[in-house]
This record gives sequence, structure tokens and C-alpha cells, in this order.
Amino acid sequence: MAEHNFDVVILGGGSGGYAAALRSAQLGLSVALIERDKLGGTCLHRGCIPTKALLHSAEVADVTRDAAAYGINATLQGVDMPAVNKYRDGIVDRLFKGLTGLVGSKAITVVSGEGRMTGQNSITANGDVYTGKNLVLATGSYSKTLPGLEIAGRVITSEQALQLDFVPSKVIILGGGVIGVEFASIWKSFGTEVTIIEGLPTLVPNEDASVSKAMERAYRKRGINFKTGVRFQGVQQSATGVVVTLENGEQFDAELLLVAVGRGPNTAGFGYEENGINIDRGYVITNDRLLTSVPGVFAAGDIVPGLQLAHRGFQQGIFIAEEIAGLKPATIDELGIPKVTYSEPEIASVGLTEAKAAEIHGQDNISVYEYNLGGNGKSQILGTAGFVKLIRKNNGPIIGIHMIGSRVGEQIGEAQLIVNWEAFPEEVASLVHAHPTMNEALGEAHLALAGKPLHAHA
Ligand SMILES: Cc1cc2nc3c(=O)[nH]c(=O)nc-3n(C[C@H](O)[C@H](O)[C@H](O)COP(=O)(O)OP(=O)(O)OC[C@H]3O[C@@H](n4cnc5c(N)ncnc54)[C@H](O)[C@@H]3O)c2cc1C
Repeated sequence: MAEHNFDVVILGGGSGGYAAALRSAQLGLSVALIERDKLGGTCLHRGCIPTKALLHSAEVADVTRDAAAYGINATLQGVDMPAVNKYRDGIVDRLFKGLTGLVGSKAITVVSGEGRMTGQNSITANGDVYTGKNLVLATGSYSKTLPGLEIAGRVITSEQALQLDFVPSKVIILGGGVIGVEFASIWKSFGTEVTIIEGLPTLVPNEDASVSKAMERAYRKRGINFKTGVRFQGVQQSATGVVVTLENGEQFDAELLLVAVGRGPNTAGFGYEENGINIDRGYVITNDRLLTSVPGVFAAGDIVPGLQLAHRGFQQGIFIAEEIAGLKPATIDELGIPKVTYSEPEIASVGLTEAKAAEIHGQDNISVYEYNLGGNGKSQILGTAGFVKLIRKNNGPIIGIHMIGSRVGEQIGEAQLIVNWEAFPEEVASLVHAHPTMNEALGEAHLALAGKPLHAHA
């Protein structure tokens, strides 16, 4: 058994882990990065990237199907799933090569194997001990299921859904959160009959109430079926399909059941608790500097309670490296993290929802403005509906931005600058937004909230 010493030993090479490795190496720290599968983790191989590639193929299918509305003669003859998967895999492979090259070009020792915490400053992998002045735990998450609901055969999670080499004719999706609506959107565009079952009262229940409502309207219009406020009871599988029963007795049949009920922290069996790491319901508890209960041991990404998003993991990884290097970085404001739900239409949001803002500041102390994309030229050209909703503190800054419509995810950059820099609507109103862009809708909404609407009624 060999022993290796580093400034930083990182367990898990996903978004959180590899960001910590890259920034640590930049700062001159010696780094070991232990990964049991592939660098890039869930986001690159089983999450963000492959699903967005499928969504792009789905958009091409929709555009082709609707081509006549734009005066173009084209017919959608079908979806060649193996070819779609080949396109998707090509993107993942290129990014994987790029990432491997990037990590390989730095002074980072990549260890291929499963690691386990075997001391307060050591991780053992392949029988070797990697001792770090600091450890970073970044072992990510797994697709959860419900008690008694076994993932097997025709009952699948996003992982198996991404591997399908055919377009299912009929699918039931358990869960109307980000992953559920994303697959609903993809499959509907590919021609599948989709039904979403959501236990909470609305689809995308974590979003602002008006966005959830608009999403339901959009999905209804697209012919995506959904049942909300109903609870799943059980599923029966046969050789040809599944029958799902709800607690209210309703039954639905389909070819597949996709379970999309959230992701759980991947922390069991890695020696965390045995070595003094405080764990709550599987999550690693940290302070706001991402330090665990063990001195010198940090945690990043989906194992830390909060938004399970790749860009949060990246930022946490960077933060930890800078903290270890003594740069005293500013803590990450979870509320300022931008969120995008990728589907047709897209949802993008940052900051407080109207309900939360009213709860914190009082309804009388906030102002809300909704700019309808009906007044936005580029949105009309694209044929999308939706809105930009702003929430401001009276005589104060913008504290929440919520958008729904095709491609609004591309506008979250400006929205997050506005919220995180605590801009006043009057300040944003004086910035020029290019015409005709969907981005203008953000500018118009701020003009209106500043009391000088242009292409909008007061
Ligand atoms: C279908 C889907 C779509 C998604 N889409 C988006 C999106 O569009 N945008 C977004 O921001 N987020 C998205 N996410 C979430 C995003 O993928 C995660 O938030 C992100 O990957 C978390 O990074 P992480 O570093 O915490 O964990 P992971 O990326 O899961 O990485 C953890 C790594 O640790 C390794 N590992 C685990 N245990 C060990 C061990 N004991 N020893 C060695 N290695 C180990 C794993 O192999 C893995 O590579 C999506 C997720 C899914 C499932």
C-alpha cells in the first residue's frame, strides 16, 4: 500500500470536483482527483449535456413539423433515434475529450478508481492512500425512486431514458419537476403520447406561481397530458407495458414509466460518517464556507443541501479551492443562482418568487410587473408565448426575475446580473437592448417598471 501526499485530495470528478481541481491547480496547489467512472460526472455524461442535445433534436422535429406555417415545404418523416443518439454522443465525446485534455494539461493527478474516506485527511483508492492537507467530497447524486417502486424493466430513470434507441409510443412520467418536464418535452416533440403525474398542485412547483400556470397552459396546448395534486400508488409491468395506479384509483397504461422524483445525495458507503462527517438525510452538512464538521474537509455539488445544478457545483468547487489557498472568497448566495428549466417553452428564473418576496418584505412593499411576449417582435417571429416577470422592492432593487417562453434560458445571464448587482429598474431602463431580440422583453419590462413603458400598456 503506497501513500501519496497532496495539498488537496478530491473525491468525485463531476462538476464540483473537477472545478475544485482546476482552480486548485491554477493556484499552485498539488491535487489528486479520484474518479470511479468518467471525468465530467452526471452533467456531462448523463445530465445537462445529453438532454440538451436531445432537446435540440426535438426542436428540429417541431420546426420541421410546423414548417408550412413559415412557408417552407418540408415533411417530418420520422425520428431516427440511433442517429439522434449518435449526434448526442458526438457532442458528449468532444466535450469529454476537451475536459480530459484540460485536466491532463494541469498538475492534477487523476486517479481512476472508487475512493473511500479512511481517515480525517485521507482517501483510499485501489489500495493506495491519498492524504491531503485538505479533502473535497464531491460524490454527486443518483436518481431517487419512491418506497417500493423498483427501477427495472419498463420502469426507468433518466439514465435509462437517455439510452433508449427507439421513440416510445406512450410514456407516463412520475414527477413534474425539471427532469420530468424536460423529458416530457423531448418525447412529445418526437411523437410520444406523454402523461405527467405530479403529487404537488402544479407542474414545476418550485417556480413562481404564474410561471407554473403558464407552463401548464403551454403543455396543455402542446397536448402533453398531466395530472397534478394526485399521488402515485403502484405500477404493474407486463411484457408489453405498464399500468400505473394512483391513490384516487385512476389507472393509466403506457409503454414505459419514467421515474423523475428528484435526486438523492450519493454519500452512503464512502466512510464519511465513520470519519466524523455530519450527515443529515444523506446530505453532507457544511457551513456557508462549504466546510464540513471535520476540519480541512470541504464538500461541493449535489451532496450539499440546496439547488442541484452543475453551475452551482462549479462555483462551489472554485470557492473551495480559493478558500484552501487562503484567498477568502465571498460566500455564494444561493438565492442568486440562476435556474433554467429546459423544455419547450423554457423557464428561466433568479431571485425571489412573488410569494416569497411578499412573505419576506410584505406585499405592500414590493411591485410586480409582467411583460407579455406578445409585444415582443422576435417572440412573434418565433411564434412563442410567455412573459418576463419582474419583482422589485419599492424604491429599491429588482429582487426576482421569472421568464417563460422559447429560448428564454439564453437571457438568464442579464437577469442574474440585474438581481445579483441589485440593479434598480430605472438603471436597467437606461441600458439599450438590441432590436429585434427576445432580450428586448427584459429591457421593456424594466422600462415599464420604471414608469416609462414603450411597447407596453402601463
Ligand atoms: C437528466 C439530468 C439533467 C440535468 N440537467 C442539468 C442542466 O441542464 N443544468 C444543470 O445545471 N444541472 C443539470 N443537472 C444536474 C447536474 O447534472 C448536477 O447538479 C451536477 O452533475 C452535480 O455535480 P456533482 O459534482 O455534485 O456530481 P456528479 O456530476 O454526479 O459527479 C460526481 C462524480 O463522483 C464520482 N464518484 C461518486 N462516488 C465516488 C467514489 N466513491 N469514488 C470515486 N468517484 C466517485 C461519480 O462517478 C461522478 O463522476 C441534470 C441532472 C440530470 C440527471
